[in-house]
Amino acid sequence: MLYSRLFGRPKKEAKKFESISHQLLTQGGFIDQVSSGIFNYLPLGKIVLTKIENIIREEMNNIGAQEVLMPALHPSSLWEKTDRWTSVDVLFKVKSQWGGEYALAPTHEETITPLAKKFIKSYRDLPLALYQITLKYRDEKRPKSGILRGREFGMKDLYSFHHDKKDLENFYQKVIQAYLKIFRRCGLTSVKITEASGGSFTKKFSHEFNVITPSGEVDLIYCDKESCSFAQNEEISQSKTICPRCQNPLKKEKAIEIGNIFDLGTRFSEAFDLKFVDQDGKEKFPIMGCYGIGTTRLMGAIVEVHHDDKGIIWPETVSPYRAIIVGLDLKEKPVRDRVFLVYEKLQNLGVEALLDDREEISPGEKFYDADLIGVPVRMVISQKTKDKIEIKGRTEEKVKLVSLDQLVNHFSFIK
Ligand SMILES: [Zn+2]
Repeated sequence: MLYSRLFGRPKKEAKKFESISHQLLTQGGFIDQVSSGIFNYLPLGKIVLTKIENIIREEMNNIGAQEVLMPALHPSSLWEKTDRWTSVDVLFKVKSQWGGEYALAPTHEETITPLAKKFIKSYRDLPLALYQITLKYRDEKRPKSGILRGREFGMKDLYSFHHDKKDLENFYQKVIQAYLKIFRRCGLTSVKITEASGGSFTKKFSHEFNVITPSGEVDLIYCDKESCSFAQNEEISQSKTICPRCQNPLKKEKAIEIGNIFDLGTRFSEAFDLKFVDQDGKEKFPIMGCYGIGTTRLMGAIVEVHHDDKGIIWPETVSPYRAIIVGLDLKEKPVRDRVFLVYEKLQNLGVEALLDDREEISPGEKFYDADLIGVPVRMVISQKTKDKIEIKGRTEEKVKLVSLDQLVNHFSFIK
């Protein structure tokens, strides 16, 4: 991608926002606020979001889940069936001019259960796991912290159907492992799993995935002994100082919730009269689980964890580009030719690169923008570097001079 053609370039002066991810993503040209809690994703932001979604997609497919896409508009009758039309306080309600009311879905039990009912007849149809990646809606009174808590947000939601409790528990454990892998692949290693009460959605047991970061909204207490995984939300926890499992002193940190999983029991299969005929010939309600990851929130959380005072530091797996080439002295034809030669070489190697080809911008401004955008590898080509390329990691201080042929060694994924 040529920087001179990029839509939504970094802004020098950005309005001050309360969260660092909102600040850096806006300033870096990744997102643009339409209204409170509602955002446009610009080309850089869309690439990051798609990479996050694809990591999630791969891990969902790996545990045997199948992708579907369900509507955002739900007829009110579906939500009346589960008694949630009036009980969910953040439900967006839309009136049709032709009559009828609709919910803008914050979650999809009300469509997945009737959908499953059309296909699940016997125990042979179970277990079943379906997921989607789509936009969701919550009528938040005060959306805040940019894409960390929006009125409209991206989400992956997975629903599973099982013939008995044990089968659900097995799958539930698989999802926990898949989630930890997803977060690790997105560069989030300090993720703690807490047991939680189900909030307004369910009374069954549930777990939350929290990433530790000073700007988090959750007060988390946890045990940092490697063999012990105790972690709880401080609000609900009985233990404040000593780990109830191993007697280690507990730590307290701020965290952002990036995922949650629920055992739904038969709450929704009963509401929609979804039954299957079991091996013993009896009709039963399938046991359901639901599993969410906020995709846009995850993007915000990655920035909250990975940044410095110069800008974002994207983990390589979700960075919009693998490398940024900063071309200097571009009015000199030999330099310009060389810059484009390197750009082409990277493209041929399969390295997604952003080429800063702007002629009228000072070197200082180009370096400032490169740090702000946070691409993992920066390359500088100028009159001074002659036939070499100056290369540096986003968080490194020292630069290295390498030849065009040596470039390949700097991208570990190239075989
Ligand atoms: Zn412990």
